[in-house]
Amino acid sequence: MDFKERMKRFAAATAGLDALGVAAAAPVSDEAAARYRRWVADGRHGCMDWAARHMEARDDPRQLLPGARSVIVAALNYLPRGRQPEGAARVALYALGRDYHRVMRGRLKALAAFITGETGAACRVTVDSAPMRERYWAVQAGVGFIGVNNTLIVPGRGSFFVLGTVITTLEIEPDAPCTMNCDGCLRCVKACPVGALAADGRAADARRCLSALTIENHDTTLPPDIAAALDGRVAGCDTCQLCCPHNADARPTAVADFEPREAVTRLTRERIAAMTPEEFDADFAGSPLRRVTLATLRRNVCCQWEQWEI
Ligand code: SF4
Ligand code: SF4
Repeated sequence: MDFKERMKRFAAATAGLDALGVAAAAPVSDEAAARYRRWVADGRHGCMDWAARHMEARDDPRQLLPGARSVIVAALNYLPRGRQPEGAARVALYALGRDYHRVMRGRLKALAAFITGETGAACRVTVDSAPMRERYWAVQAGVGFIGVNNTLIVPGRGSFFVLGTVITTLEIEPDAPCTMNCDGCLRCVKACPVGALAADGRAADARRCLSALTIENHDTTLPPDIAAALDGRVAGCDTCQLCCPHNADARPTAVADFEPREAVTRLTRERIAAMTPEEFDADFAGSPLRRVTLATLRRNVCCQWEQWEI
């Protein structure tokens, strides 16, 4: 068995990763670089200031690891079996359990240690921790394709996956890029409550996207039309994934860490309004909601309190 095959077996059987592919480390295509720059120049990245930084590194992963030859992209299913009860303050499925950065990083570090141990090659793990265009590289590595809803869709398995990469100095035979595309049903475009998606598949308008606004925007209030569209959401939005036919047969994750923690099942607007910082810290240690912050959760509740039907 060659090294790549052994690496893939380790990733699946020992590191517990659901999909994995390899691309040659190289600059992103001119078209992809130009598209990204247009998105930022048009201001569609909204409050995500980080998206406009480190453009050179975003264009070429070799800037993130000197001598990089390969980009390994891994996907991990986060779709939990459990859900919040009716009437709860709505949290996106990825955020019901443990912070995926922690879960994914541990698995990728194990993979990187395997590669270094077997070959001596240097590795760098990234999980939203470097200016890495993970979805672009996932396509190049054959892991999936980018849907009109902007998510990475793993063929036959859907989009409820988190992504991470291992950049390495080891030259590994690349996989064939994924050439699939959406079937163009545009259900996601029609279902988006704020018109943040475009039918041509352009990157979403983060100035309107409820996911970006509830998680990454920390202003003291949100515009009235956005607040009116929240419909009980306090952290994230799954609408454009739940309606996608590629998720019709999505199977739940085997990772217990992604199942809803008890505190998120009893998270109501009243609880958020009354919660002390100490209670928040105790309830949500290691949760993605820590990144949202208690102040922003409260803002997300307060700005829609009047419209919120229970
Ligand atoms: S996450 Fe929600 S608000 Fe954002 S594009 Fe998808 S459906 Fe629209
Ligand atoms: S809902 Fe339709 S258009 Fe949107 S991502 Fe899924 S398949 Fe593509």
